[in-house]
Amino acid sequence: MLLKFYFFNYEIMNSYLTNIYLDVKIKVGEMMIADILVEIKKIDKTFSYLIPENLNIQIGCRCLVPFGKQTLEGFVINIKKYQPCDYELKEISELVDEKPVLNKELLELGKYISKKTLCTLTSAYQTMLPTALKAKKNFKINVKKVLFLRKVKDYSPTNENEEIIMNLLDNHDISLKEAKQTSQYTIDKLLKKGIIEKYYKEVYRLNEEVLEKETSKSLTEEQKQVISKIKLNEFKPYLLHGVTGSGKTEVYMQLIQKVINNKQALILVPEISLTPQLVETFKKRFGNDIAILHSHLSNGEKYDEWRKIERNEVKIVIGARSAVFAPLSNLGIIIIDEEHSSTYKQENNPRYNAIDIGLYRAKWHQCPIVLGSATPSVESYTRAKAGVYELLEMKRRVNQNLPNVTLVDMKKEIKNGNFIFAKILKEKINEKLNNNEQIILLLNRRGYTTISTCNDCGFTHKCPNCDIPLTYHLKNKKMVCHYCNYETNKLYNCPVCKSKNINERGMGTEKLEEEVIKEFPMAKVLRMDVDTTRTKQAHKKIITDFENLKYNILIGTQMIAKGLDFPNVTLVGVINGDASLNIPDFRSAERTFQLLNQVSGRAGRGMLKGEVIIQAFNPDHYSLVLAKNHDYIGFYNEEMHLRKILKYPPFYNLCLIKISGSDISKCENESNKIITYLRQNLDEEIILGPSPAIIPKINNVYHFHIIIKYKDTKKIYPYLQFINDKYSNSKVIVGIDFNPNKI
Ligand code: ADP
Ligand code: ZN
Ligand code: ZN
Repeated sequence: MLLKFYFFNYEIMNSYLTNIYLDVKIKVGEMMIADILVEIKKIDKTFSYLIPENLNIQIGCRCLVPFGKQTLEGFVINIKKYQPCDYELKEISELVDEKPVLNKELLELGKYISKKTLCTLTSAYQTMLPTALKAKKNFKINVKKVLFLRKVKDYSPTNENEEIIMNLLDNHDISLKEAKQTSQYTIDKLLKKGIIEKYYKEVYRLNEEVLEKETSKSLTEEQKQVISKIKLNEFKPYLLHGVTGSGKTEVYMQLIQKVINNKQALILVPEISLTPQLVETFKKRFGNDIAILHSHLSNGEKYDEWRKIERNEVKIVIGARSAVFAPLSNLGIIIIDEEHSSTYKQENNPRYNAIDIGLYRAKWHQCPIVLGSATPSVESYTRAKAGVYELLEMKRRVNQNLPNVTLVDMKKEIKNGNFIFAKILKEKINEKLNNNEQIILLLNRRGYTTISTCNDCGFTHKCPNCDIPLTYHLKNKKMVCHYCNYETNKLYNCPVCKSKNINERGMGTEKLEEEVIKEFPMAKVLRMDVDTTRTKQAHKKIITDFENLKYNILIGTQMIAKGLDFPNVTLVGVINGDASLNIPDFRSAERTFQLLNQVSGRAGRGMLKGEVIIQAFNPDHYSLVLAKNHDYIGFYNEEMHLRKILKYPPFYNLCLIKISGSDISKCENESNKIITYLRQNLDEEIILGPSPAIIPKINNVYHFHIIIKYKDTKKIYPYLQFINDKYSNSKVIVGIDFNPNKI
């Protein structure tokens, strides 16, 4: 097959790296002006302001400037000598940051994002900063300070308590809180005598337990091969295709070990709160000089982690998508784990993909970037085949063979009266329980029952804001909308025909848990889904408890499929393994294959052999059959064949134009105008729509889609830019999404 693909990422990236940055230093006594970038009505504007002599304005700082009667916050993007001009320049009123919050690299990166995703430069810069810094002007950034004690003069202790405290203080300063555990009285006495004193010390919020160190493992042949092929001092993207359990984490850690002598490492994971084990493994290997960035941290914690990075106090950053903007100044390697994960793409403006940003940064720092996955995205694998990425492979597990997978046809099982568990799954669960081995059960639906209808007239209980069926949640006894969180009571009478004959169908994890407890009364059962993990440490607790063998069965949504390593799990059961095929999206087969592969990968990771049972209604579908056979290449080829016929990526690029608003007819009107404009100007591209989105109404906002399938970004770009600018400040919201996750 002749590979003729269009690499969107590379195209714009290369043209963008040619920008030259001007470094201007202020000379004493000279009048200087600064170019300040501000956003006015969602449009970038740059204005010049005089720099007052007492302000140390630097490029990359934020400042406040007068604009008409308002004061605006803006970014300093250039500093230059004053030159007389026709109009009078105003002065910058206030400096927000003492030190630049954006360095040269991030300033340039913002331009790339703005161009690539059609967002304002201002919003690109805002995206790179932690929330605590993004806050509006009068918000005082909260540096956490704690009272500490230090020794002022030498003193010979006169009792045991004094001796303990003085000994502690000889080594290092301690917090007052910690010291008080010895003796409050003694501390007060020593303070009064002037032997010790109190002072405020800045501390970071994330308190870190110190874990026992673990040394590196001796590598398998395959791991050695992979590591030897990665060149550390030049820019190059690698795709590491390694089956589940092949030891990718060990490869990442040993690569990092090699670079952190004089450089820094950045590791992205899909969602870090789901992978506390990975963070722990890293801390055991590298100690606590690691910054962690993810969405479950408080704003204060995020700010602290950001400052650790910015102050060069850590060498390793682990984080989810937005950590790709970590202000590391001397990167030696970037690693993106589970590169196929859809979480790397931001759904809202700016709609960037962390992999693109990673590529950009690796190129800037002239370092390698490693994209790892057991099931690379079809697009990434195609790039690797075409030589854009270097392909590295690990085909074997470290400890065991890949688990044996059985597909069960639920149509037949139901005929035999097995509605929830197939006969073989029941038998296997009992077998594992008897052997004291652990079991994971995946059902990718949360809640109790998933649809409630009237048996007499067919009425379905739907969300009034989104028009989709409500899910019943047993815990709070409410019908809940999973799109807008609308909640209401369960219906006992049909509102249309008054019948009491209401039928509740469809099973979520809550119901599955109940069924498991009924069927296997001896088992200790744990559930992990969005509903059981709302509190901060909940993920970690569930994972640790299961790891410590406090439970026999872990039930969960796709949350449990990702990156977990439980050596005692020997059976994975998937309930409704093909449900995701019903999602009308061109990636649904790929997502199904990835999910099944990933969750299967949780079985038999330790010394015990694992097995997997997948229950499905269409067990003959290629994504299931090939997942059963652990046949990634087979899946890739099959999928590519269909993508070609259907003109999907990587044969075509996709651009999704989303038109949304609360007035449906205005949305339709504007959608029609946009598609007419596109059809007038583009002829080789395939333009589809406008059509209502898959969920046409969410929270009373209507959504319409226009899809463009195209080859040449340069050709369509000016028209999309025009549309973007035209609707930048309109009531009907128009969002343009290049390479969208879902269409
Ligand atoms: P992957 O990320 O590829 O799914 P992991 O990195 O989680 O796989 O590794 C799977 C298991 O193998 C882990 O328990 C890990 O500690 C172990 N492991 C990895 N490399 C080695 C090695 N070289 N020697 C011994 N055990 C290893
Ligand atoms: Zn009815
Ligand atoms: Zn809703």
